[in-house]
Amino acid sequence: MAESAPVLELSDLETWSRPGTALAVLGHPIKHSISPAMHNAALARLARDDARFARWNYVRFDIHPDALPRALELLHAKQFRGVNLTVPHKIIAFDRVAEIDPAARPVGAVNTLRWSPRGWHGFNTDGYGLATAIGETLGLTLQGTHVVLLGAGGAARGAAVECLQRGCASLWIANRTQENLDTLLSVLRPLAGAIPLHGFPPDRLPGGLPTGSLVVNATSAGLKPQDPPPIDLATIPSPAGVYDMIYNPPVTPLLAQAARLGLPHANGLSMLIHQGARALEIWSGASVPVAAMRQAAEQALGRTHP
Ligand code: NDP
Repeated sequence: MAESAPVLELSDLETWSRPGTALAVLGHPIKHSISPAMHNAALARLARDDARFARWNYVRFDIHPDALPRALELLHAKQFRGVNLTVPHKIIAFDRVAEIDPAARPVGAVNTLRWSPRGWHGFNTDGYGLATAIGETLGLTLQGTHVVLLGAGGAARGAAVECLQRGCASLWIANRTQENLDTLLSVLRPLAGAIPLHGFPPDRLPGGLPTGSLVVNATSAGLKPQDPPPIDLATIPSPAGVYDMIYNPPVTPLLAQAARLGLPHANGLSMLIHQGARALEIWSGASVPVAAMRQAAEQALGRTHP
């Protein structure tokens, strides 16, 4: 089974000689990643109609951040077709690629690399994953929508750039630590153009917050059951929907409050699936079987999601 695929290490890469077309995810830790399950299910589905994909395989490596430069060098030398990067590698890898997709440049992080003779070509598919997931689960578009974004870390930066690039109506960012919020706002200001951009502490809502906004949680508050919700949804004027990037656990305190208030809501599994689907499309050029990826992801998590 793909989800029980072994966790490989740098030493496995040093001696790598497996035949076929290899794809990999690098993280530290990596043992909870469901990406191998999702991607290998999609590859098996693609192989039914196109024998070329029968020799494609997606594996996972636990790579310490200090070893990332060596790992990327080896993966390139061994001609891995593509690489996914997860915590903590997305930002470190940004400066180590030969070419960057223009849309990924303001994000300052890459989650997808494609092999090219000159070196790695870096992309960031998280923003696409978020936008597609919001459309699929909540029926909302980022374009023309007022967005209340919670968090100022890496995921929030990617989400904020996507909101601005897609022309949201306004962007309101709440974060616990003012300094981190200010840093993010200074990065975003040149991208915002005419789009109103505001920052505020989550316990002090600003005046003028529009009704009908989309609330996106990009904090890690909710990963642990005892975490408090990152904001009190009851204080936001009639949100149109609540999207929590966290998918494990499937119901965070924020989503539980959204359900109590009768607000449309969804967890981050759909984002994970769509960022993965876009990465596979970049590597393969094929039309990706998203349903197979979703089924494998749900199975790997041991449950079905709404
Ligand atoms: P970072 O560590 O870069 O940022 C964490 C953010 O969460 C910061 O804004 C931090 O605030 C805030 N935070 C942490 N703990 C709390 C708390 N108890 N209360 C309020 N705010 C808190 O993490 P990432 O940006 O990389 O990831 C954020 C979340 O997004 C994670 O849960 C991750 O799993 C999820 N994610 C999901 C994806 C998907 O595909 N579904 C893709 C990428 C990320 P402060 O500045 O005050 O420290």
